[in-house]
Amino acid sequence: MDTKHLGVNSKLVHAGSVHDAYGSATVPIYQTSTFAFANAQNGADRFAGQADGYIYTRLGNPTIDALERQVAEIENACGAVATSSGMGAVSTLYMALLSQGAHLVGTASVYGPSRGLIEKHFSRFGVTCTFLDTSNLDAVRCAIRPNTRLVYLETPSNPAMIVSDIQAIAAIAHERGCLVAVDNTFASPYLQRPLDLGADVVLHSVTKFINGHADVVGGILAARDEALCKSLRTMMIGLGCNMDPHQAYLVHRGLKTLGIRVERAQATAIRIAQWLEAHPKVEWVRYIGLPSHPQHELAKRQMSGFGSMISFEVKGGLEAGRVLMDNVRLATLAVSLGGVETLVEHPASMTHAGMSPEARLGADITDGLVRYSVGIEDAEDLIADLKQALERV
Ligand SMILES: *Cc1c(COP(=O)(O)O)cnc(C)c1O
Repeated sequence: MDTKHLGVNSKLVHAGSVHDAYGSATVPIYQTSTFAFANAQNGADRFAGQADGYIYTRLGNPTIDALERQVAEIENACGAVATSSGMGAVSTLYMALLSQGAHLVGTASVYGPSRGLIEKHFSRFGVTCTFLDTSNLDAVRCAIRPNTRLVYLETPSNPAMIVSDIQAIAAIAHERGCLVAVDNTFASPYLQRPLDLGADVVLHSVTKFINGHADVVGGILAARDEALCKSLRTMMIGLGCNMDPHQAYLVHRGLKTLGIRVERAQATAIRIAQWLEAHPKVEWVRYIGLPSHPQHELAKRQMSGFGSMISFEVKGGLEAGRVLMDNVRLATLAVSLGGVETLVEHPASMTHAGMSPEARLGADITDGLVRYSVGIEDAEDLIADLKQALERV
């Protein structure tokens, strides 16, 4: 079925469907490593791309294909390449686009490992980088060098919730001959479509909003044109970080309800953010839907909603953050985000405890900062949970 003309929710449900001999209403799980050729000539033709049919699951599989078509359709991409994890997508992107001597400009507060991979590992092969506050367009303009190949944005970023202007940065980067990739994990394609704003590649940790049920780790890349898609796929196949058919099935199923999950979670998120902002034990709240957020107006222009990620600072630093963590009951104390269940995390005592306080501050992580990923529970219950936990701080 051609879903191009449909609305986003209809696309989510119907894009990437598979029409098999039995009329299966959902995408079957083709749990196979390999595909039989009809005869020697047919095998030769499939390898040469002159006959339809699959060859080997690392190179392609109908269930994985269905997910790739579904994501490409909603991101308005030419095609998509699914990967074993979000970091599989990040490493495929870097390997495909950066060669010896290349320079990358990136958002300072990107997902930690996306930055660490460049700084600690790609540096061994002569790749250099500049990570900065990409909400500052002049800083981005100045950071681009003749050998810059890629501008790597994460917007909104994690957990600082900094919003970068994709359209303006794409114009700056393209004028200087470099490509733009956007990690769209926090917004999800329901709220933000970077390719429509001029980006060349968009990527997701599908572990988060796209799958949405905290039961799969996975990633995906989607690109604006055929040549880019092809080079990303060739690299993914070479690195061997393909998605598995069962994983693809679960993500395809989860993605169908992205719209209703995001709508509900963000309706609750604004209520929680406003409630927190008025709470005497809360120093500040960073939620892109609040007028107090420094890039609220940009977020309003660039996204069709504000999502469900909130960062806030409890008064009393590290200890206060710890006490809050020990007293929430409904919210699950865990890393990750974007699922139907509300998750809460305290970076200073958990994910970023290994960093020095100075290094944490450099990454905008203060000691009392709490990251809260709003799920689809009842808003009243989540507020009551936070209320009783904050009373103990
Ligand atoms: C989780 C995450 C990743 C990495 O994804 P994995 O699926 O854990 O490998 C990359 N970027 C962002 C913004 C993330 O939140």
